Amino acid sequence: MMAAFPPLLPPAPRLLLLLTVAAGWVGKEPAAFAAATAGDPAPPGKIAVIGGGIGGSSVAHFLQQHFGPQVQLDVYEKDTVGGRLSTVTVNKQQYESGGASIHALSLHMQDFVKLLGLKHRREVAGKSAIFNGEQFVLEETDWYLLNLFRLWWHYGMSFLRLQMWVEEVMEKFMRIYKYQAHGYSFSRLEVLLHSLGGDTFVNMTQRTVAESLLEVGVTQRFIDDVIVAILRAGYGQSVLVPAFAGAMSIAGAQGNMWAVEGGNKMVCSGLLRLTKANIIQATVTAISLHNSEGKTFYQVHYEDEEGQGSSFYDIVVIATQLHDSKNNITFQNFDPPIAEFPGVFHTTVTSIVHGYLNSSYFGFPDPKLFPFASVLTTDTPALFFNSMDNICPVNISGVFRRKQPQEAAVWRVHSQRPLDKPELKILFRSYYSVQVTEWQAYPDYESAKTLPPIILHNNLYYLNSVEWAAGSMEMAAVAAKNVALLAYNYWYHDLEKIDQKDLMHKVKTEL
Ligand SMILES: Cc1cc2nc3c(=O)[nH]c(=O)nc-3n(C[C@H](O)[C@H](O)[C@H](O)COP(=O)(O)OP(=O)(O)OC[C@H]3O[C@@H](n4cnc5c(N)ncnc54)[C@H](O)[C@@H]3O)c2cc1C
Repeated sequence: MMAAFPPLLPPAPRLLLLLTVAAGWVGKEPAAFAAATAGDPAPPGKIAVIGGGIGGSSVAHFLQQHFGPQVQLDVYEKDTVGGRLSTVTVNKQQYESGGASIHALSLHMQDFVKLLGLKHRREVAGKSAIFNGEQFVLEETDWYLLNLFRLWWHYGMSFLRLQMWVEEVMEKFMRIYKYQAHGYSFSRLEVLLHSLGGDTFVNMTQRTVAESLLEVGVTQRFIDDVIVAILRAGYGQSVLVPAFAGAMSIAGAQGNMWAVEGGNKMVCSGLLRLTKANIIQATVTAISLHNSEGKTFYQVHYEDEEGQGSSFYDIVVIATQLHDSKNNITFQNFDPPIAEFPGVFHTTVTSIVHGYLNSSYFGFPDPKLFPFASVLTTDTPALFFNSMDNICPVNISGVFRRKQPQEAAVWRVHSQRPLDKPELKILFRSYYSVQVTEWQAYPDYESAKTLPPIILHNNLYYLNSVEWAAGSMEMAAVAAKNVALLAYNYWYHDLEKIDQKDLMHKVKTEL
């Protein structure tokens, strides 16, 4: 799950156990989701989803799963299906330029891949290290025990304390799959987090990851060397990100990551194909509220190649960031008006460089001896990039091998701003091509402290509010399932399935 970074910390064996236990929960839809029965309100006629990324495509899938195939689903996409899941082509091969890796415990993503007949991309081993601008402060070796020994030698028990902390968060987070399999939904992020991990989880959205780690006995030195590097590689941000988002990101550093053969964006196009949703290539500009004969309708206004248009819907799900001023969706006729969302998004620049690494910069004059496939960085003013990885194409054949450091390879460099030519020349002896994408990748977690609402109006939902708790493909899928359940439970007045307390007990006693 969560942001892309290499497996720097040894995997926790209990995570495998967690995976086995939790795997039984997704895909099982209890009887409560049988089609609505006579006497229930009429099903919605039309539902709009705004955004065709992983959030929009998975909510379309879940909405159809719950409301049934007779409901018309329109998905508005202003650009390309996949959104922040995207590839660039180098030498006729595609490489992930956005969301790249998925945690093994991402059960919805696992389920989608199975459902769509897609495959996991084969893992190609590669070592990681942390660079402080002058030297490597931590280097991974081929030997698991030696890695453990090094971590212990440098940082004492910090890495064990970190692992226990992350494992506890993940174990509690996995409860969401049980709740969702039983049809439970949450109207606010705070209630969702509380049902998973009590006040601790809610507080983890308010305090920094550094504070939380110091409290469980992780040393400042370990935070400065290792946690900083992991968060720079993941969110491109500091250890001031909230503890919940931080824990999700650190979980990825334990390894157990995978990707979709052919590209992660295939999940989005696959789910939209499966639902047979109408994909409307248009930019949504406004949503206005209308009431007629006691019923509420939402008019979605859009612009496409032919000009302006609009359509009416019973339910609307916004599956894109509303904080990004570029989206500029306005809300009309709502009383009280829908408030502006505080906070901004953080820019991450991805440069996909095809070229020869300048290993001398990293202290290896002979490029053949450069042993790392991934370089993470500490927070040093002189460092102008966050991380760089020698990456593999999205399609890997059986005979594929990672490029040797002396060969021209494809590197993905993450930085806060576009790299200029002198900076590229520092990292690469020479290069054939550079393809740059400037992303609004994640919320700037320091820019707003409150979690946005999930429900903007009766049947108007905001899926991407979840990113302010933690952003990742799986978090989008979890939020999608929650919104689909919420919409269904509200539509059919099944209020017992919304914001219930003591769910661990309830799901144990329910058949
Ligand atoms: C560089 C980078 C690396 C990342 N690494 C990882 C990783 O390794 N693992 C991980 O899990 N996550 C990673 N992420 C995060 C992950 O990619 C996102 O959290 C996830 O893809 C968000 O999906 P989404 O559907 O919520 O939003 P988006 O993918 O942003 O989809 C929103 C869609 O809505 C469309 N849209 C916007 N406004 C309108 C409008 N007005 N009308 C119509 N359409 C509109 C957009 O064009 C877009 O396609 C990374 C992100 C980036 C950028």
